[in-house]
Amino acid sequence: MIAFGIDIGGTFIKVLGINAKGEVLKSEKFKTPCQLSSRKFLQFLAEIINNWKKELKIKKAVIGVGIAGDTDNKKGILRFAPNIPWPNLKIASGLKNLTGCKCFVSNDANMAAFGAYKKELKEKYKNILTFTLGTGIGGGIIIDGKLYQGSTGSAGEFGHIKVGDTKTGNLCGCGARGCLESYIGTNNLKKLTLKTAEENPKSEIAKLLGKEKFSVKLLSIAAQKRDKNALSIWNYFGTYLGQALADLVLIFNPEGIVFSGGVSGGAKYFMPAVKKVLQEQKIKEPFKNIKLLISRTKDIGALGSALYALSLSNEE
Ligand SMILES: [Zn+2]
Repeated sequence: MIAFGIDIGGTFIKVLGINAKGEVLKSEKFKTPCQLSSRKFLQFLAEIINNWKKELKIKKAVIGVGIAGDTDNKKGILRFAPNIPWPNLKIASGLKNLTGCKCFVSNDANMAAFGAYKKELKEKYKNILTFTLGTGIGGGIIIDGKLYQGSTGSAGEFGHIKVGDTKTGNLCGCGARGCLESYIGTNNLKKLTLKTAEENPKSEIAKLLGKEKFSVKLLSIAAQKRDKNALSIWNYFGTYLGQALADLVLIFNPEGIVFSGGVSGGAKYFMPAVKKVLQEQKIKEPFKNIKLLISRTKDIGALGSALYALSLSNEE
């Protein structure tokens, strides 16, 4: 059995194929063709899979799809996504018709969680939470070794739990105020960085911004040079993330938390603030031995999608 994993984001689509042992046979990245109609988009995906099936001489395969939005994992439908233009996209049935492969669909952060659990932690911890840190903030929940998706497939929306005031707090892409994502998502980090640079024209941040466009890496470079403005933004980031984590740890009491996504590269600079918030909690036990881990696996979302499809097809 071969499994294809497709990770669909607002900007890029990552596709890979794995064998039954979980080894990657082929992987490729595509620009998300947002201009296509939903029917043409499914044909676009199917063409990739059908070409790979021919090329790798595959007879039997399954497909796992992780997509950045609210998904119905039981029906295999993308219900809604802020950055993807195909609401109510019937992915599972569409791809099954066009490729002949059984297809499983879930939220991209759930798939990253499954990938982290299987590949990185090698199922060592049975209860974990995962955070994907980027433009959006995603979450995943593994309980007793199983991905928990909730009654409607919407579980793990950590980016939209409230860490700010719901009337006066930052405005989130989802339309609400006070969501975690509106504080630690890349868009707000960019806003904070540009404002800081303007107010402190001699700072390292301002110097770097004079040479290149904003990136999270720029914030890490400035922090590396002990720029106090950059360190203060990372401290802000870690404090908000820590607050959300503390609540989640009180609910789920996990053994570990795995961070993935582009911004997790700044862990060295934001983790001290996260740890400080966790250490300050009054109920000590659930925080004592908790493992905070950074995912280093490339394309964990696509890999998790493939592993998820493989495990579900094995169950059937
Ligand atoms: Zn929100």
